[in-house]
Amino acid sequence: MRDDAIRIESLRKTYIGAKGQPEKQALKGIDLTIPRGSVFGLLGPNGAGKSTMINIMAGLVRKTSGRVTIWGFDQDTNPRQSRAAIGVMPQELNLDPFFTPRGALEVQAGLYGVPKQQRRSDEILEMVGLTDKAHAYARTLSGGMRRRLLLGKALVHHPHILVLDEPTAGVDIGLRQMLWENIRKLNQQGMTIILTTHYLEEAEEMCDEIAIIDQGEVVARDSTANLLGRLDAKSMVVHPASPVETLPQGAGITADLRDDGAVLLRYHGNTTSAEEVLAAVHAAGISIRDVKTAEADLEDVFLALTKSG
Ligand code: ADP
Ligand code: MG
Repeated sequence: MRDDAIRIESLRKTYIGAKGQPEKQALKGIDLTIPRGSVFGLLGPNGAGKSTMINIMAGLVRKTSGRVTIWGFDQDTNPRQSRAAIGVMPQELNLDPFFTPRGALEVQAGLYGVPKQQRRSDEILEMVGLTDKAHAYARTLSGGMRRRLLLGKALVHHPHILVLDEPTAGVDIGLRQMLWENIRKLNQQGMTIILTTHYLEEAEEMCDEIAIIDQGEVVARDSTANLLGRLDAKSMVVHPASPVETLPQGAGITADLRDDGAVLLRYHGNTTSAEEVLAAVHAAGISIRDVKTAEADLEDVFLALTKSG
C-alpha cells in the first residue's frame, strides 16, 4: 500500500449549482491506485471529471466524500505531507502578471517552505527554457512561456509526483516536444507523472498505464498495451490490380468496398489470421496490387468504452 503514489477510494464530488443551476455530480465514487514511478494517463472526454480529480489530489478542490492518500499520507489527517508530495501544473494559465518568472518561482518556493539554500530557481528556469526571460514581467510572456513557467512552479518543492492537467492542449509542436522531453527526463529521474489529455496519440505514446474516465466514473484502467490489445481489432486494406467484382467472404471477416476501389477487411487477430484473410481475397478472384494492415488504436478503445466519446 505504501508503494502507491496515489490511492483514491470511493471519491465523490458534487458541485453545488450556482443560483438556479442544478448540482453536478462530477465524481461518482472513484477507486483508483496509481503506482510509483509510472507515467499514468487520465483520459476522458471534456467534462468527464479529470480536472476535478486532479484538483482534489492537489488540495485545490474540496472533495464531497471518499479518501485520498498521496505518497502514503492521508490527505485529511496529513494535509501538509500529502501536499508536499505533489506538484500540479494546472489547466488554466493563471499567473500573477506582476511577477517575473524568477520571482514567481521564488514566491512559490516560499509558499512551500523550501529553504533558500535548497531553492533551484535558476536550474528550473534553465530546464523549462526561460533563462533569458527570468526577469521579464509575466504579462509580457507568450502563452507557451506561461505554460512552461507553470511547469517550473509545479517543480519548486521537489515533489515525488508531478501532475499535468492537459499540458499540451493548444500548444505548438515545438513546445509540445519540449514538454514531453522534460516529462520523460523527470520520470527517468524517478518522478511519478500523472497527466490528463484528450489527445489519444499522446497517451498512447507517453503513458505506461491509463485510466479512462467518463461521466465521473472510471470505465477502464489498464496498461496501455493491454487496453490496446483488448479490442484486438485489426484491419487490412487491399488495393486490387483491377476493379473488384466480388467481395471476399469468410468466417470472422467483414469486407467493404471503399470509394477509392480498395477493399477494407476487418477481422479479429485472436480468431482469424492474416493468411486466412488473404486466402479469402484470392478466393474472390482479386489480385493484389498493394496491401496495408492496421491495429486498433486507443481511439477505438476509447470510443468503445465512453458513452460520450
Ligand atoms: P474535465 O477536466 O474532465 O473536462 P471537469 O472536472 O473540469 O472535467 O468537470 C467535470 C464536471 O463538473 C463538468 O460537468 C463540469 O461542468 C463540472 N464542474 C467543474 N467545475 C465546476 C464548478 N466549479 N462548479 C460547478 N460545476 C463544475
Ligand atoms: Mg479539465
